[in-house]
Amino acid sequence: MDTPLILVTNDDGVHAPGIRALAAALRPLGDVEVVAPDREMSACAQSLTLKHPLRAERIEPSVHAVDGTPADCVNLALVKLLGRPPDLVVSGINSGGNMGDDVFYSGTVGGAREAVFFGVPAFAVSLAARAETDFGPAAAFAAKLAGLVLEKGLPERTLLNVNVPAGRPVGAVVTVQGRREHEGTILEGLDPRRRTYYWIEEGRDRWVSDDLSDIHAVRSGLISITPLQTDTTHHGALATLRGWEAALRDGQPK
Ligand code: MN
Repeated sequence: MDTPLILVTNDDGVHAPGIRALAAALRPLGDVEVVAPDREMSACAQSLTLKHPLRAERIEPSVHAVDGTPADCVNLALVKLLGRPPDLVVSGINSGGNMGDDVFYSGTVGGAREAVFFGVPAFAVSLAARAETDFGPAAAFAAKLAGLVLEKGLPERTLLNVNVPAGRPVGAVVTVQGRREHEGTILEGLDPRRRTYYWIEEGRDRWVSDDLSDIHAVRSGLISITPLQTDTTHHGALATLRGWEAALRDGQPK
């Protein structure tokens, strides 16, 4: 087998300590190429930049900075920048957790999902405490997981979302995506020109308690590994919705 090629991206930007730690930990496993946003792009989900061209600057050997999103980076890397298809894409290590409903906002998860759209196995890694500056345990775990994924592969259209607690993790468990009760806190104030501004607040929501969830695992000091699928169809709702089809065809919903 050829030396594995691993693409690394993130949403905290190419200079963030998390991506540096991740790339360093993965290097013993193969050739590591970093293609990441040139600045912080958190909460951009999987958005692609379509309205202006992208630039990729090679800032070090095997490190490119792109003026775009994580999904842009993965797209550009897979289609143009890498000489061959990567065997694995790893996105992170994000500063702050990406659990529950946050997987829909997360640029870290968006980067990994973009790779899965291209048929490349991928996972996202987040350090679930913004105040934590030691990325060592998360990087070591990412390397261990990367080795397993390179060896065993992942199911089709599936990515792994990994969240690592602060401090020294006591173990690792496979979890389900948790859920929040959204409180929708928005700060309101006046700007210097006395116009009203609104600022969406993060992380004020209540988590729904679920022993199997990512958030429960992390709160218990465990590394959480959630398999996510790209198909978000609610299969259990299909039968009910199909019962509406006749009314929708008539153009006369009852
Ligand atoms: Mn981030």
